[in-house]
Amino acid sequence: MRLGVISALAEEQHGLIEAMRSPQRHLHGMREYTAGKLWEIDSVCVLSRIGKVAAAMTATTLVEKFGVTHIIFTGVAGSTDPGVHVGDIVVAESLVQHDMDARPLFPQFEVPLTGLSRLPTDRQVSQKLAGAARRFLETEEKGKLHRGLIGSGDQFMSDPARLKALKALLPDLLAVEMEGAAVAQVCFELGVPFGVIRTISDNANEDAAVDFMHFVKHVASRYAFNVIKNYCQA
Ligand code: SAH
Repeated sequence: MRLGVISALAEEQHGLIEAMRSPQRHLHGMREYTAGKLWEIDSVCVLSRIGKVAAAMTATTLVEKFGVTHIIFTGVAGSTDPGVHVGDIVVAESLVQHDMDARPLFPQFEVPLTGLSRLPTDRQVSQKLAGAARRFLETEEKGKLHRGLIGSGDQFMSDPARLKALKALLPDLLAVEMEGAAVAQVCFELGVPFGVIRTISDNANEDAAVDFMHFVKHVASRYAFNVIKNYCQA
């Protein structure tokens, strides 16, 4: 068993790489993969950088070159639901590529030739992630855990009109980010179990960019660190 941990931004993975025992760095394809032990679990940590292609490339390399057997994506996301607030955590049950649209050949959102528009996460990994997140949130003053649909697209969502249009098509959408559903497709196609956990950093509106970096640096990195720690120690 070998765990792959992907994040999009350096600030999101801050701490995890430092916590690694016997870290070994490998440079490949403009990324740094660090292999070692995270709380006794053989792991590889890497920053994907931002967007679907970047994430797909990273997930594929983790599996094909570094032999990981399962993958967790940790990061931040914008809320797309009135019940989901900044500081909450969303564990994905499934993910949609919200900018995928190959109509009229395929229905909107369907990933061509997979027959899927909602790419499911692994049940066991997600269950364990949710447990790890719940245990962490119990130690915080606020923050709720949600499980459901996350959308990914190559766009930082900060336009309320766009969000409204998307939400009309996907009413159960809880959050948007830019990588998860790409990892989902890679893992589906390669048959690798995976999970996605996102801390809500913004409300995908005009304020999104303003709140964003401060939150990632000061809050989200701590969330990701502790959830992965709980996951590995479970
Ligand atoms: N403004 C930042 C980059 C933002 S990219 C900078 O200057 O560096 C946003 C990253 O956070 C992506 O990796 C994405 O997965 C996630 N994210 C958080 N909020 C988001 C939102 N509202 N829309 C899309 N992605 C979001």
